[in-house]
Amino acid sequence: MGLRLYNTLHKKTEDFKPKVKNTVGVYTCGLTVQGRPHVGHIRAALTRDIIVRWLEHLGYHVTSVENFTDIDDKVIEKQQESGKDWRMIAGTHIKEYMEACNTLNITEASFYPRASQHIEEIIELVKVLVDKGYAYENEGDVYFRVRAYKDYGKLSNKTIDELISGARIAPHETKEDPLDFALWKAAKPDEPYWFSPWGKGRPGWHIECSAMSKYHLRESCDIHTGGEDLIFPHHENEIAQSVAATGKEFFRYWLHTGWVTLGGEKMAKSTGHYFLISDILKDYDYAPNAGNVVRLYLLKTQYRNQIEFSKERLDEAKSAYSRIDDFMSQFHDLERTEKPLREDAFTEAMNDDLNTPKALGVIFDLVSTGYETKDENERKKIASSVKHYLNVLGFREKAERPFKELTDVLEDVLQKLPEEKKSRLFTAVAKTFLANFVSNIRDEQDFFPIMLNLLLFMKDELRREKNYEMADYIKKRITEKGILVQDKKIEHL
Ligand SMILES: [Zn+2]
Repeated sequence: MGLRLYNTLHKKTEDFKPKVKNTVGVYTCGLTVQGRPHVGHIRAALTRDIIVRWLEHLGYHVTSVENFTDIDDKVIEKQQESGKDWRMIAGTHIKEYMEACNTLNITEASFYPRASQHIEEIIELVKVLVDKGYAYENEGDVYFRVRAYKDYGKLSNKTIDELISGARIAPHETKEDPLDFALWKAAKPDEPYWFSPWGKGRPGWHIECSAMSKYHLRESCDIHTGGEDLIFPHHENEIAQSVAATGKEFFRYWLHTGWVTLGGEKMAKSTGHYFLISDILKDYDYAPNAGNVVRLYLLKTQYRNQIEFSKERLDEAKSAYSRIDDFMSQFHDLERTEKPLREDAFTEAMNDDLNTPKALGVIFDLVSTGYETKDENERKKIASSVKHYLNVLGFREKAERPFKELTDVLEDVLQKLPEEKKSRLFTAVAKTFLANFVSNIRDEQDFFPIMLNLLLFMKDELRREKNYEMADYIKKRITEKGILVQDKKIEHL
């Protein structure tokens, strides 16, 4: 049995078949950049990561695209509230998001387009829709004529009659019909704008993804993913616009990531009801391990199901991860295995709509057997298999902790500090840390947390002395090694 995916469009699990042989295009609706990324955003990115990893494992050549909606109503609202330019707001939040993704070892997408970089394609697409009679202009706004598209509501399972009962035209809107949605919005005073055939304005949210997916994936619009809250209206509108413009099928498979809930409610920045990824990482040891713990925690639930966020379950994930890690740390220089144990069970789980909890079950079973087995060869075989599967599921290897690279960073930083500062810092460091740590060292890898703490300590000391330049330099160098660093006091936008 090959890969099967649950397709929201047909409400059933279907065999996966790409449009172009051996090549798969995956598009993910990414962050709208008005706020800091929370666990819900990272979970959606993790769904893309797992799909891409598994497709590549199956031998497909994958192109993946994750967009940033850097211009829309909410971002403009944020600009007006904060007085900061929308580009700066976008830049800050995108950077934080990318750092959090890096900590969780989330595969980089092939492209990360921003809506503001694709205005030309967006205008072209709106023009086609106007020419074909699917859209109309009114006082500088352009709307999509929902009733002109006969399949509207298929994805979200809604009928026009159901939709019309709740629809209203807001006082500032110039629509013909309450169901219609904006493709292009005339600029109000003090809003960012671009020139278009309909005057100064900016794109609506939905059209951005239709234009960017087509631009980057062309004939390979195979899998479209995003949070389940995007099914309606965002994804419904994407399909309507794209099919109306091209007359062809848009994406074939629509996959939706379940919410992360908190006290039963969806985690959302609009309500202030959320955990940042940095909030949860800071309690879990140094970064490479923390990323693995959070990855395990999220993968213990299949992507489609909701997760109720809880500290207890996160703690359980930490223990579970330590059990694997302790077992694996008994082995050095494991060879990559061509034929891992229990491969059929693992493959069957992943091919069954990316059932990661089942796949993790295979790993835990192997680890349990490994603990009980006496035969050294057998134990090695088990460890190699576990290593193989951890790799497939995107866990960072323990050996990847960049201890040696941090040593380079430390040397570099020390060279930049004056002599008397160095000796003062070292005395403080020695008193605070080294005495506690030395007794815990078993091998070279155990120096990693010491080295990291040493650098973080120096950074905080320098910040306290208002030497922000040097403190930021240390932070930058550590971040480059794939480690998420938080300053103690976080400056909010
Ligand atoms: Zn989108």
